[in-house]
Amino acid sequence: MANNPEDFAKHRIETTQKQLRAPGVIHSLGADASRRMLELSDRLYLPEIGTDRVAKLQEGGIPVVGLLPGDEIEVTGEHSDFSPEQRKSLSDKGVLPAVQEALENSLRPGERVVMDEASGGKTISRQGKYTGKSGTKWRVVGAPLIALNAEDDDEPGHDTALGHELVHAGQAEALPFTKETNRLSRRIYEETRAYHVQSALDTYLHSKDANTRAQRVESAMRTWLESGRQLKTEDDRKDFERFLRTTGVGGMIKKSIDV
Ligand SMILES: [Zn+2]
Repeated sequence: MANNPEDFAKHRIETTQKQLRAPGVIHSLGADASRRMLELSDRLYLPEIGTDRVAKLQEGGIPVVGLLPGDEIEVTGEHSDFSPEQRKSLSDKGVLPAVQEALENSLRPGERVVMDEASGGKTISRQGKYTGKSGTKWRVVGAPLIALNAEDDDEPGHDTALGHELVHAGQAEALPFTKETNRLSRRIYEETRAYHVQSALDTYLHSKDANTRAQRVESAMRTWLESGRQLKTEDDRKDFERFLRTTGVGGMIKKSIDV
């Protein structure tokens, strides 16, 4: 039975908040990561969606929308530039107000995406490119919005998609800009973190042998680290993605992207 996309998103918010409060999950993630996830999950909300498919955003929250495959959503307008959390992250990193403003002004007016059948969810933001005085090129992202595939079922690993995307929303807030040249390795690293959290949720909800994609990525990562390999440098991360692509697990980022 097809879900009403809004009810679907509401249900997923509630279940994810519950999943993250489970003692087994808190134990598995550790106190700091767990606290961070709980803080993020407390800010989830359902935005209103206009007939123009634009989400009406609220300052400081993390919007979640349910989309059926083929449905569109656009992030634009009020509160779609830097969120207060992103501004705070930039200030904490010592980015001067004038540079913050230049980064923010580089954001394209809107980001429109269509949900595809294969995806469980995506985190989207307005995107920008900024070249610093030294010639360094940066990629910039605005406030994140999470879109979930409302046709998804409750199969192990599908019911934790919001937990995975919430990690990405937190990453967009903690570091709203990245060096162009580091972009790929950052993406790979961010996926390992999102799968790490999702794997803990899958284990709590099902079992450690549920064999979800997140659990398989997590297990491959453990093997990788236990064999003395790292995930620190760009080369390490690209090597890990290449390794995953040669296993049955498959890579974490689009196959069309060369690593
Ligand atoms: Zn991801």
